[in-house]
Amino acid sequence: MVETCYFCQGTIEQRNIDVDFRWGKKLKMIRSVPAGICRQCGERYFDAGVYKAMEKLARSRRKPAGQVAVDVFEFRTAASAQ
Ligand SMILES: [Zn+2]
Repeated sequence: MVETCYFCQGTIEQRNIDVDFRWGKKLKMIRSVPAGICRQCGERYFDAGVYKAMEKLARSRRKPAGQVAVDVFEFRTAASAQ
């Protein structure tokens, strides 16, 4: 388990977080994933086993526990947005 951030040497805090996971064209969210979060820069660290388990979940055809709607925007339209 990582204790010091690779990028900024900040302290890593263990928390359960929601992770957005892109799998092909699909965006999946996995809830309550045990991760290390840098207190300084927010970099996330996962154990190899945790990462593998997430990939497995993302790949599986298992019925999701829930769904969220996602709005998609083109960045170039930002100037005309209010
Ligand atoms: Zn950091």
